[in-house]
Amino acid sequence: LGRGIAGALARMKEAIVVDERALADCLNEISRALLQADVRFETVRDIRASIKRAVNLDALADGTDKRRVIQKAVFGEICRMLDPGKPSFTPSKGKPSVVMFVGLQGSGKTTTCTKYADYHRRRGFKPALVCADTFRAGAFDQLKQNATKAKIPFYGSYTESDPVKIAVEGVDKFRKEKCDLIIVDTSGRHKQEAALLEEMRQVSEATKPDLVIFVMDGSIGQAAFDQAQAFKQSASVGAVIITKMDGHAKGGGALSAVSATKSPVIFIGTGEHIPDFVAFDAKPFVKRLLGMGDMDGLVDIIQNAMPIDNPPEIGGTFTLRLLYEMFQNLQNMGSLGQLVSMIPGFSSQFIEKGKEREGQAKIKRYMTIMDSMTAAELDGTNPKLMNQSRINRIARGSGRLVSEVVCMLEEHKRIAKMWKKLPIHKKLNTNSAKSL
Ligand code: GDP
Ligand code: MG
Repeated sequence: LGRGIAGALARMKEAIVVDERALADCLNEISRALLQADVRFETVRDIRASIKRAVNLDALADGTDKRRVIQKAVFGEICRMLDPGKPSFTPSKGKPSVVMFVGLQGSGKTTTCTKYADYHRRRGFKPALVCADTFRAGAFDQLKQNATKAKIPFYGSYTESDPVKIAVEGVDKFRKEKCDLIIVDTSGRHKQEAALLEEMRQVSEATKPDLVIFVMDGSIGQAAFDQAQAFKQSASVGAVIITKMDGHAKGGGALSAVSATKSPVIFIGTGEHIPDFVAFDAKPFVKRLLGMGDMDGLVDIIQNAMPIDNPPEIGGTFTLRLLYEMFQNLQNMGSLGQLVSMIPGFSSQFIEKGKEREGQAKIKRYMTIMDSMTAAELDGTNPKLMNQSRINRIARGSGRLVSEVVCMLEEHKRIAKMWKKLPIHKKLNTNSAKSL
């Protein structure tokens, strides 16, 4: 899937004239790639139509970068497909909820149950695990081991063979113990047999879960839609977790699972261990799906953040002025944290996740400091220029601390150094001269 779409987009980049014909070729290739990735025909048709709607070539003003518009539309459309439009149920602390996990054997249910419990325990919940898998020998032992490792109370039986009975007993027990997140692990079979689906229906009817999570191996393709739909029909699935995303899987099945269950992906599993678990974020997921490495995204972002009137020269120095202009442009763009974190040289601490407001303030502060610099300082290519008396003057002029000025200069130095090492540096500069 990735190579197909990324390839189509790359060829689009090479096309000399971007016209209806080039767009149609690109859309054909993208459709083919999606079909090959086991996305259903109906879904592919919808994506195709939406991309076409989003890209009205005639209406684009001359000078707009049509390739970028198309690439954005493809990316945006696939992100949109992963968003069913309504959030899933989220448990709240202190309020008892029951969450039931369903999925085929080997999909990663038992492992994921523990990860999910641990994730919430770390956030102040009081979770508990119930093993309602009476089908597989050793199922209870596995859950017990995991639960013990994560210090989470558990319930199960070596002798009882009725999964409904155990599920109900476990849920009752932990309700009495005032657990606020009771997680029910269920059995799986190799296929979605009628018996398994009937069992899921019964367990779900008896435990009345607030949320049913469908667990899916990231590497299943074609099967994803039917599997997800079958589970949705027997227990009303409200969320999806994709496992084994640490391997080669691109996770194309996620598109089908979301469309079959009309439910969002909430987490992805990225390894066998308990902490290998991250909240789902559509953008990086789709990037990976499309085979757009971070560097691809990086070129886009840097290109976007580049000063339009005055693109940097090839092999030029990353001056303070360039940084200033990038900041200016970044402020007008989308999610600042995500954008900034992708620019090499900006440490991830520059804007921590969820601290966008502080990041904005920091950028403003840096810009205020730069406002007090002379042209020679902003354009300076001589690092020796910036001496203590200049730093003192800039701090006084901008009303900031000397330490803040020093900090900013350090940050700039680091960025400039990374800038030199950027593998796409030359290519970017030649490109940006053309496309900007
Ligand atoms: P279940 O049958 O659905 O309960 O699946 P299990 O939880 O027993 O997992 C099946 C196998 O997949 C085990 O060997 C797990 O360690 C492995 N597994 C589960 N999640 C992940 C993951 O995110 N990454 C990797 N690499 N392995 C996983
Ligand atoms: Mg299991």
